[in-house]
Amino acid sequence: LNPPKPVCSFAHFSFDKALLEAIRKSEFEHPTPIQSLAIPAALSGRDVLGIAKTGSGKTAAYLWPAIVHIMHQSDLKEDEGPIALIVVPTRELAIQVYTEAKRFCKVYNINVVCAYGGGSKWEQANELKNEGAELVICTPGRIIDLVKMEATNFLRTTFLVFDEADRMFDMGFEAQVKSISDHVRSDRQCLMFSATFKQKVERLARDALCDPVRIVQGEIGEANADVEQKMLLMSNQEAKWNWLTSNLVKFASLGKVLIFVTKKLDSEEVARKLKLRDFNLVLLHGDMLQAERNEHLLLFRKNIQIMVATDVAARGLDIAEIRTVINYDMARDIDTHVHRIGRTGRAGNKGTAYTLFTDKDAEMAGHLVKNLESVGQDVPQELMKLAL
Ligand code: ADP
Ligand code: MG
Repeated sequence: LNPPKPVCSFAHFSFDKALLEAIRKSEFEHPTPIQSLAIPAALSGRDVLGIAKTGSGKTAAYLWPAIVHIMHQSDLKEDEGPIALIVVPTRELAIQVYTEAKRFCKVYNINVVCAYGGGSKWEQANELKNEGAELVICTPGRIIDLVKMEATNFLRTTFLVFDEADRMFDMGFEAQVKSISDHVRSDRQCLMFSATFKQKVERLARDALCDPVRIVQGEIGEANADVEQKMLLMSNQEAKWNWLTSNLVKFASLGKVLIFVTKKLDSEEVARKLKLRDFNLVLLHGDMLQAERNEHLLLFRKNIQIMVATDVAARGLDIAEIRTVINYDMARDIDTHVHRIGRTGRAGNKGTAYTLFTDKDAEMAGHLVKNLESVGQDVPQELMKLAL
């Protein structure tokens, strides 16, 4: 079975006028490469495994086909449970995809519900029950809870998406995600997207797919070449701190700055010390109350220039004004690194990522060298030496 042909103009998707008009209002001129390839495949009913670099428009590549799918199932409107289910790894990403989905769904009066941990379970249960949710965007733990409470079910779910799918099928989420995929009827269409996909995880994920069209744009796990990467050798923690405080004003004058700190306690410490230095910033990590997480992210999207975050912000977040990403600590693995720096350089824009490393980061050095070389970026001598 050959995959359907790619399409290079929105007009050539079999979208109706209303959706084309909504796309036109977004000021998108033409489909991105992953959209050109994945949308015809998804519209033809095939399962899709789509791998493309960060910031390349993967969300719309599953969202638009999901909407078309729901419109085609409108005769099922009286039943309960979502027609399309989109599963994502973090609460913040669920809210972001929900916001994007609402923009397109309102054209058709499709009911969209967002079900994520930390939000009110009762409110979400009510929305699912009373509003006849047709499209649900969720984090895995919460949707399982809601199904157990009988607030919803997957009886009419025929379109299933896993965004950041490698993360979803990786350790930690594996059991929950398998439980969702096993409960959704077997004649469903299933789509998965990510910028990274380790072979081992792809093998696991493929259990949920049926003869998928596998679309890979570029090399799997390749960093986005629109992000200029600067690798800086630091002698110790004090050197890192001095570098940060002497450069942050400059970076913040260029655009928004996202600073990654690996551990929650360390992120609190960095944020606290920067505040003492009069930097206006917000903090985001997984142990904060959800209301505070939402408020901080909203402030960062609006008028705050700097955010200090753990890897809870590494995947999927789309904030156009981020110009600079700083890896204050080295990421735990190369895929996390690629996702972190992918918070800038989105939709064809340019960005810069600074990665501070010390001689303790020898294990990552080799991966970084390979990754930098594959996208034609400079590899500093110090990093090369550390990799040997
Ligand atoms: P990914 O999931 O691949 O990292 P997103 O789906 O978050 O990327 O999209 C990145 C940005 O590109 C978003 O701000 C989105 O609105 C924008 N975008 C999506 N499709 C297009 C398009 N066809 N043309 C221009 N911009 C687009
Ligand atoms: Mg995405």
